[in-house]
Amino acid sequence: MKMSKMYMPTLREVPSEAEIPSHKLLLRAGMIRKLVSGVYSFLPLGFRVIKKIENIVREEMDKAGSQEVLMSAIQPKELWEETGRWTDFGPEMFRLNDRHERSFCLGPTHEEIFIDLIKDELKSYKQLPLNIYQIQTKYRDEKRPRFGLMRSREFIMKDAYSFDKDIEGMKESYMNMWRAYENVFERCSLYFKVVEGDSGAMGTGDLHEFMAMSNIGEGEVVYCKDCDYAATDEKAKVIYEVKNVLIDKLEKEEVHTPNIKTIEDLMEFFHIEGSNFVKTLLYRVKEDIIAILIPGDRELNETKFANYLNIPEHELEMLDEETIKRVTNAEVGFAGPIGIHKDVRILIDSRVNKMRNFIVGANKTNYHIKNVNIDDISGEEVEDLLLIKPGDKCPKCGSELEIDRGIEVGNIFQLGTKYSDGLNATYLDENGKAQKFLMGSYGIGINRTMAAIIEQSHDDKGIIWPLAVAPYHVIITVINPNKEDQLNLGEELYDELLSKGIEVLLDDRKERPGVKFTDAELIGIPLRITVGRDANKGVVEFSIRGEGEKNNIQKEEVYQNVKKLFEEQNLNI
Ligand code: ATP
Ligand code: MG
Repeated sequence: MKMSKMYMPTLREVPSEAEIPSHKLLLRAGMIRKLVSGVYSFLPLGFRVIKKIENIVREEMDKAGSQEVLMSAIQPKELWEETGRWTDFGPEMFRLNDRHERSFCLGPTHEEIFIDLIKDELKSYKQLPLNIYQIQTKYRDEKRPRFGLMRSREFIMKDAYSFDKDIEGMKESYMNMWRAYENVFERCSLYFKVVEGDSGAMGTGDLHEFMAMSNIGEGEVVYCKDCDYAATDEKAKVIYEVKNVLIDKLEKEEVHTPNIKTIEDLMEFFHIEGSNFVKTLLYRVKEDIIAILIPGDRELNETKFANYLNIPEHELEMLDEETIKRVTNAEVGFAGPIGIHKDVRILIDSRVNKMRNFIVGANKTNYHIKNVNIDDISGEEVEDLLLIKPGDKCPKCGSELEIDRGIEVGNIFQLGTKYSDGLNATYLDENGKAQKFLMGSYGIGINRTMAAIIEQSHDDKGIIWPLAVAPYHVIITVINPNKEDQLNLGEELYDELLSKGIEVLLDDRKERPGVKFTDAELIGIPLRITVGRDANKGVVEFSIRGEGEKNNIQKEEVYQNVKKLFEEQNLNI
């Protein structure tokens, strides 16, 4: 492509709407433009990258034996009602009516629609397993669309669905997708971790998330320094060792603690560590009031709490001040398990059972009780309600855990019969008996992957595209296109590389060299050839975006240099 003809509206200023590097750079490089909040248009350069990523995904899915289809974004309400998700999906679903007042949604995902597609025709165990996928636009009215392509309201997803006859088959399909995903993200040059995720209260099987590591990621990735354990912070199992388990139990005693409410204040007041206290956290879940007891030096993991109650997390509410006062008979800050209103349901993290002589709120303003032991309390023991923190022990090998942030670019999910139950989707087994399909679903966010690549690969001048997803492989900058020898050599190299299958941009614009270099760096084309003063000697400058080194080479060596870089990265031209 000749840049004199290209539509590439680059910006010098950083648009005020953008907070993170990928969003700023995509706008500045003229790759995307916002239509309305959370909805973007892709311009020529940006669209090329989308297609590159889609093709990597497509190749790896095809290689893994999945078959590509294309479904509509418009989906009838009735199918969603059969699985109960017309209601459960809530306000994230875009809904619309046709002229006959029939209701539809713009698909936020496609489980129902894929099952509907296959269920009347995939009838025999002999046709299983089946894996089908599409690369298609999804719609979600996100509560907080933000960060550009990272969390938008319209986005392209690769979604795949597997159908198996038994659990072993489902697990095999799952591992097959796992491997395909590793290939995809490696080919996109992402640094990622595969982490165990939480499938929620209704979860049926394993769930793994593919996290591109980045400080701007919304997810927390817990991982072990010494083994392969990795999980989301919601899922990570907490190993918590209780100290002083063998000391004698003492007589409990009320202590006057005027205006001392937080754990920090209490630690200072009693001159002891947080692990000597038990926190009482109060929640409302629909009609119920629930008190949760956890060690004083830890935080509650709300996901584990919601899973224990078998409810979605959004149904948890912190208890309001007025009700706290009513059930504890005290000001906020003095709640405890002893003497709290009898209707409060008490959940106790299993570690509290082992603690000795701890301190709790007295349900009396300005008082705490010390030397409390588990026999003084009654409630339900829950194995693990704690939130992980750095330095905790790895549940697999006992080494130390670390926590970093990550961007969820894809996930794989064992669904079991969850959806085939709802939609009554069956096949006939070897004995002619109807059996429910065992399903898996597998998503990759194409746009989010594009943004994640930029988050991991940019500098203060612009994007640094990995060769495999770059909109063009090579940019030839002609310093002064008014000079015939420069323009001619630029065009000669351009034609040669194009004829050999390389994707090339020729900057033949009548702009100052500074403008051209700034644009080249901003749009991040990986291989750069500069044609300047030495054109008459057949010499050009060759460099790699993001690396300092510049080399003068003969025009005859250009293709070999480019080819070598493709070979080094195992890429075909
Ligand atoms: P998140 O927790 O980030 O909301 P999700 O669990 O809702 O993600 P899925 O429904 O599993 O995501 O969708 C599969 C993939 O689609 C995600 O891994 C992500 O890459 C992408 N994705 C999901 N929501 C968005 C969005 N609003 N914008 C861009 N990509 C998205
Ligand atoms: Mg979501």
